[in-house]
Amino acid sequence: MSASQVVKSSLAELQLPPEVYRQAVNQADLAISITDARANILYANEAFTRVTGYSQEEIVGKNESMLSNHTTPSELYKNMWTALSAQHPWSGRLLNRRKNGELYLAELSISPVVDAKGQTSHFLGMHRDITELHRLERVVSNQKHLIESVVDAAPVAFALLDPNGRVVLDNQEYKKLVTDLRVKEPAHTLLDSLIVDWREILPTRPQRCIVSNREARVDRPGGRARWLSITTSVIDMCGDRADNYFSSTNQSGLLVVIADVTSLRDEQERARASALQAVLAEEERTAAIREGLSAAIFRLEEPMNVMMSAISVLQRRDPASASVLQQALSASREHMETLRQVIPQSPQEILVSVNLNEILRDVLEVSTPRLLAAGVTVDWQPATTLPVIIGRPLQLRMLFKALVDNAIEAMNIKGWKRRELSLTSALDDDRIVISVLDSGPGIPPDWRHKAFEPFFTAKGGSGKHIGTGLSRAQQVVADHGGIIDLDESPSGGCAAIVEFRIDGDPI
Ligand code: FAD
Repeated sequence: MSASQVVKSSLAELQLPPEVYRQAVNQADLAISITDARANILYANEAFTRVTGYSQEEIVGKNESMLSNHTTPSELYKNMWTALSAQHPWSGRLLNRRKNGELYLAELSISPVVDAKGQTSHFLGMHRDITELHRLERVVSNQKHLIESVVDAAPVAFALLDPNGRVVLDNQEYKKLVTDLRVKEPAHTLLDSLIVDWREILPTRPQRCIVSNREARVDRPGGRARWLSITTSVIDMCGDRADNYFSSTNQSGLLVVIADVTSLRDEQERARASALQAVLAEEERTAAIREGLSAAIFRLEEPMNVMMSAISVLQRRDPASASVLQQALSASREHMETLRQVIPQSPQEILVSVNLNEILRDVLEVSTPRLLAAGVTVDWQPATTLPVIIGRPLQLRMLFKALVDNAIEAMNIKGWKRRELSLTSALDDDRIVISVLDSGPGIPPDWRHKAFEPFFTAKGGSGKHIGTGLSRAQQVVADHGGIIDLDESPSGGCAAIVEFRIDGDPI
């Protein structure tokens, strides 16, 4: 026997007696009816009787339209008959009336039965009562509507993140944040600034992504900084993929709630700014005294060195004069030491978390009167968010203020036309890079290293400048493990670039 003969014989054995088909249809749980080509019912199964309330005797010979409540839109019937006339199956929902007058929603599928001549001889109709299912659907949809309305009306922004960090649900306030902050996913930007490795830990250790009322500062080019308070919580989410149907393992999502606390912060900022102005002015005064005294001591060293050489020359020829000179030198050294002792030291600051955007913004605010007076335009391009570093805020403010002051001074020359200050902060891998660029005359390359030497000044001998600004700036940068470099700015002026590592390690 050939292979095809084997297949044919086993198919023959599988042929079921017609009675089995009849019983299977009769006992099926779905309301089944068979009609002629004009929808007159020829057969209805037991489930049909259960659903409609009509017995076989009552329904056979009647038209399917007797089930209609006559409120289903006629358009729907038109579509149904258009499909059926083209011998296409049709399915949809209709409002039916049972024998007892009760209404029910029927989910109906109709398939045309085509005879050997290609004509539609019958229709097979199958329907089920989905009234309860529809009610539940409506309850769910109403609840969804209600939740969405509440969520949308809330004055805070929400975003629900799946384990891969995808935003799967958000509200109107969140959408507004997307536009206002001009970032693709504000939740990501904010989490980046609070939990550096949140993307890695969210799928496996979501609890570690929980934060409560943590504030993040968001800066926009040229605009006002916004302060957002972030609270996150982990919530169980049921997976919607088919392979999650039988598995009870739920996924964890992260709900990010973002509240705008800018106006509150602004008030605090205003109070802080005026206090800061006073502190910086005081520190500048002290620094001026410190620098003046240091410069005086530095300059006095020179004649004393000359005296030292004179003593060693005189030692053999005129020991008496040498001894007198020696006494004078020792007395001078003592006075210098006393002078050194009274040099006011800068206050010892404790280390705290510092946001460099905040520091730069402070410096710009404090420097505004000088910038305006010198006619300097400012281009402030902060990184949208910056991770905090551990540092001494007053020292850092003094550092950037010194760089901004230098820039203003460089451009504030009589007749100098281009007066532009560009201040940028950027996150470059594990470093924060701050650039202070001016459009002044710049520093010649061979002076760039010398500029960091104490008492080096290229600003002439007015006596006002004693050249400790950059050396002090370098000291502050070094204290914070960073580096500072001078270069040429795109406009040919000076570019002061300061870099710090986020982890605080020295560069
Ligand atoms: P019409 O739709 O104008 O109907 C008038 C008559 O003409 C009816 O007898 C209709 O069956 C018939 N008819 C209309 N257009 C055609 C056509 N192109 N070809 C052949 N006959 C046509 N309706 C329900 O409301 N509830 C049901 O549960 C239901 N089940 C159905 C099950 C099957 C298998 C079929 C084939 C139809 C079913 N219908 C059902 C549709 C029903 O036949 C009617 O079309 C519908 O109820 C509207 O009836 P009507 O009296 O308002 O007007």
